[in-house]
Amino acid sequence: MLRQSFSGGVVIPNPHPVETVEIISAPLPDKVVLPLQQRIGDEAIPCVKVGDKVLTGQVIAKTEDHFCVPIHASISGKVVSIDEQIIPHKSGLKSKCIIIESDGKDQWVKYKGCGTDFLHCDRATMIEYIRSSGIVGLGGAGFPAHAKLEGIQDCHTLIINGTECEPGIMCDDALMQHHPQEIIRGVEILLHICGAQRAIIAVEDDKQEALNSLLMYCHNDRISIEQIPTKYTSGAEKLLIKMLLGIEIPSGRFAIDVGVVCQNVATTKAIFDAVVDNKPLISRIVTVTGSGIESPNNYEVRLGASFEHIVSMSNPNTNQHAIRMGGMMMGVDVETIHLPICKITNCIFVNNIEVKFSTQECIRCGQCNQACPVDLLPQQLYWHAKSGNTDKAMDYNLADCIECRCCDYVCPSHIPLAEYFSFAKALHRKTTEDQYRTDIARERFEFREYRLDRNKRERAEMMAAKKKELKKKMANDKTQKDKIAAAMARIKKTKKASDDA
Ligand code: SF4
Ligand code: SF4
Repeated sequence: MLRQSFSGGVVIPNPHPVETVEIISAPLPDKVVLPLQQRIGDEAIPCVKVGDKVLTGQVIAKTEDHFCVPIHASISGKVVSIDEQIIPHKSGLKSKCIIIESDGKDQWVKYKGCGTDFLHCDRATMIEYIRSSGIVGLGGAGFPAHAKLEGIQDCHTLIINGTECEPGIMCDDALMQHHPQEIIRGVEILLHICGAQRAIIAVEDDKQEALNSLLMYCHNDRISIEQIPTKYTSGAEKLLIKMLLGIEIPSGRFAIDVGVVCQNVATTKAIFDAVVDNKPLISRIVTVTGSGIESPNNYEVRLGASFEHIVSMSNPNTNQHAIRMGGMMMGVDVETIHLPICKITNCIFVNNIEVKFSTQECIRCGQCNQACPVDLLPQQLYWHAKSGNTDKAMDYNLADCIECRCCDYVCPSHIPLAEYFSFAKALHRKTTEDQYRTDIARERFEFREYRLDRNKRERAEMMAAKKKELKKKMANDKTQKDKIAAAMARIKKTKKASDDA
């Protein structure tokens, strides 16, 4: 039962609903492009070269960086190039990628995990299977799952996030409907790893089919399934914890600080595959939707296949399109559909190009304040961000803004508020870093001055001590001289007496 709802948020109906949520298996792509730079950490180093034959699931690049996972070939075939390619990122920049041409055979490497009787496996072995299978957060974060699970202590509750992060995305709904058994078993694996007493799977109340499927396979007393209101941004981690457990996580703290671990449903299913079979993560489910698409759908597709590979299966119309990776609210606009699908590509929006509303002056209606799900005052933040007063914006908890764009969505003046906030955060970070660098430089200068002064003082003290020593020595020398002179005088006197005699 829900403990608490949250104020704010917006109800946005799925703009392109479908009758039945399916998963279509996309055909093997002719080639895949696999970026070596992952969401965080070092760029992976290839362990294959151009001309090498590779099997599906073979490790083709890795790094010693603990926050990285190995990169696997997602098809069998030949490495035809290792060079810079445009990757799906808002910067539009290029990054080094391994390109494999398919041999059409899809021949796999051999893999073996703990098996379905996984409870005999220890925690460390399970986490190593998760790392070596390349599992990262598939809900969009891309954070390596093994790094999140290692070192967990005092976890009382595991939350499995089955809410779609944004309206229009259907991949997790499809997964829950079609793979409920693997998800439930994945939850049991996570309970074993985290040592939590219970797990709650959160499903939005407009996903009745998904709920029914999960209920059918859930026979574990420690796992419950909760329906939560279909309201954007109920899937945000802190809000979900507040709704399900009534626990408010303070600013700057994380779920684990209050004894909770959250995982997305798709990550949970991938963890099941990793632990039971040690099966490398080489595909994912992607939703293709948008106003430029006749048949929105979900596709199970190999990583590294191009967006175009599945967009072409969704009957795009002949209009000019704007392409967006991720959701309609927090996704990223990209230039082209010739980009590789990555582990965090949960959705591709293909929209007809529309005339954008022009931005007007703020009319101080306060609607943005009501819509903010984390209880900020976007109207105030806007004024401070606009005037570049980032310190003041930070006083209004700018750092807690999750850039969900609920405020943008309701703003009658069409002000891109979240863009202002994102920019203000970056500016504040830079100013803080600059200030830090200035402070360090000033401290270095002050220390140098102090050091020179101290050297001067020590030198003067040393000279004074030497001088004193010398004087003392000279004084000693005078006594010695007197003694010698007296001895000489005595010798002289004795000699004279002897001569006179
Ligand atoms: S919703 Fe827009 S117009 Fe209204 S107060 Fe907020 S920023 Fe101003
Ligand atoms: S973008 Fe930030 S300020 Fe706007 S509603 Fe979301 S959390 Fe609140």
